[in-house]
Amino acid sequence: MTDATEASVRSEVRAWLEANWDPNLGLVEWRNKLIDAGWGAPAWPKAWHGRELPPALAAVVDQEIRRIGAVGVARTGIRTLAAATLLEHGTDFQKEKFLRRSLTGEDTWCQLFSEPGSGSDLAGATTRAELTGNRWVINGQKVWTTSAHHADWGLLLARTDWDKPKHQGLTFFVLDIHQPGVEVRPLRQMNGHASFNQVFFTDAEIPPEHLVGEIGGGWAVATTTLMHERRGAADGFASWGAAPPVERKGRIYDEEQAETATTMEPYKWYPQRAGRVDLVLARAKATGKIDDPVVRQEIAKLLILARSAEWTARRARAAMAEGRPPGPEGSLGKLASSHVARAAARVHTLIAGADAMLSGEDDPSGGVVAEVLISVPAGSIAGGTDEIQRNIISERVLRMPKEPGSTDDRPFREVPRNVAS
Ligand SMILES: Cc1cc2nc3c(=O)[nH]c(=O)nc-3n(C[C@H](O)[C@H](O)[C@H](O)COP(=O)(O)OP(=O)(O)OC[C@H]3O[C@@H](n4cnc5c(N)ncnc54)[C@H](O)[C@@H]3O)c2cc1C
Repeated sequence: MTDATEASVRSEVRAWLEANWDPNLGLVEWRNKLIDAGWGAPAWPKAWHGRELPPALAAVVDQEIRRIGAVGVARTGIRTLAAATLLEHGTDFQKEKFLRRSLTGEDTWCQLFSEPGSGSDLAGATTRAELTGNRWVINGQKVWTTSAHHADWGLLLARTDWDKPKHQGLTFFVLDIHQPGVEVRPLRQMNGHASFNQVFFTDAEIPPEHLVGEIGGGWAVATTTLMHERRGAADGFASWGAAPPVERKGRIYDEEQAETATTMEPYKWYPQRAGRVDLVLARAKATGKIDDPVVRQEIAKLLILARSAEWTARRARAAMAEGRPPGPEGSLGKLASSHVARAAARVHTLIAGADAMLSGEDDPSGGVVAEVLISVPAGSIAGGTDEIQRNIISERVLRMPKEPGSTDDRPFREVPRNVAS
């Protein structure tokens, strides 16, 4: 518990920022200062760089950082999922080694979960981890791995026991991407970006101290990662890359821009993936379609949907503020956000007409609408598809019967699979 109030936090962080903020510092140097003062991750435990502030007060810290035009800690990409997972399940060694560098942005991460034969059925993963001498040796393949081409570390779900039921034979590791046994091959998407990769492991190695949780306890750790991912998706990606509020001149901004152009590059289409609801009214006014009663009606429906999804996301944040573990509201919110994205794509098309097919400079919107159209399907797939979210909601919220096969307790090696292992 904390005695802090909004006013006390605001005045304390404001005074600290006024005394310490300097745009001519190096990016990592500044972030370390912010972390040392407890303002980098104020909601985190005191033992791990934080102040244990509830989310509403941590948001006050963000507001003040933005108000003064300062740069915050690195908080986009898989590193947020890595940090959340390690905070909950990591050893002190792992927290010491990884948490601070995730905040400074020195380390980048990827999530090595999905495989060619197991995406929705994640517990069916067949990448092997075998303890040989004092090393875990990894063989197999992952796919859809966002950012693997920029990553230093991967959150790996691998099979360590083929004789246990599928959920009980998995173990969670932190894998060093920069080693000879790991090959990263980029894939290109239909929207032209290349965010994903295939990742192949041939006798890749992991030291025992990089095992997270228990041997065979990987499913519980992966569930934590997924819950945080779904909550992130439910919050939407609309604010990613939002325009800074003040003029940004100085060494730190140059370094931040370089970071955005490299490690953050795979995420630059994420606002389009969320549907760009923020552009709808302006585009309707600019094109005169705002006077069309049918278009007005569709815009109203979209804004109502978006507003209700935002309330769902706020409910999830309130649950977190009360210290409740991430629960099904993440799935509800994620499903809502993919509905909003698809509805926004439809409304954008209604407004743009045939121009929605134009890309780049040929299009009055600079190609944003075309990019929205071909990016929104990703929201219905990433982090668990819409169908999987519906299964979770039906089983865990509505208490409907479990889907057939989901409680398969045969040894994993006897479970029929569609890939060789
Ligand atoms: C933008 C984006 C980023 C991603 N980033 C990563 C990443 O960084 N790391 C990572 O590990 N993965 C990542 N993924 C992969 C993602 O998690 C998987 O694509 C997803 O879980 C679906 O798995 P799949 O593609 O194998 O589809 P499948 O599981 O093969 O599903 C195919 C279809 O069948 C449906 N289906 C499957 N099972 C059921 C069921 N039980 N009930 C009803 N319908 C079902 C699905 O809904 C889907 O429509 C990313 C995906 C996207 C789009």
